[in-house]
Amino acid sequence: MTFDADSPAAGPDAGDALHAAQPRGRECGSCTLCCKTMSVREIEKPNNVWCRHVRNHTSCEIYETRPHSCRVFNCLWLRGVGTDAMRPDRSRVVLVEAEDEAGGPKGVAAILDPSRPLAWQEPQMRVFLEQIRDRYGAVGMALGTRKRVFRAGQPLQTP
Ligand code: SF4
Ligand code: SF4
Repeated sequence: MTFDADSPAAGPDAGDALHAAQPRGRECGSCTLCCKTMSVREIEKPNNVWCRHVRNHTSCEIYETRPHSCRVFNCLWLRGVGTDAMRPDRSRVVLVEAEDEAGGPKGVAAILDPSRPLAWQEPQMRVFLEQIRDRYGAVGMALGTRKRVFRAGQPLQTP
């Protein structure tokens, strides 16, 4: 994955969507999807399992003392990428920066919720991911331990 970006974007057009280095006034609100999909080393939480500290799937009961990993994690939506409807608890997709295996610039990966593995096919999200793929050369998708990178023009499929 070798794409980089210029500026954050609010709209569904992925053209300026990446490299959203600064939050643009967004808040997680009642979203906690990363508390399920992502692993947290400090508390030995594996990915795709709800954290034991999630309360009602809407908040963190140890928010003030949450691990460093939780404090520094900002999904791309929180950083200004995508529409309001693409907030992860609504879209069931967590967009993250992905490391390039070859040491190149970071790319974008869509982390899918195993409970809703087909949610990425919702038209707005699908178009967004296709735009990322074609404009930046690749997009990643992960579902549990299954990961795939789709190159420009390659049809997206559930991993
Ligand atoms: S997935 Fe993004 S918006 Fe949702 S809680 Fe995590 S950082 Fe916040
Ligand atoms: S400790 Fe809190 S912020 Fe971190 S994963 Fe668990 S519920 Fe989420």
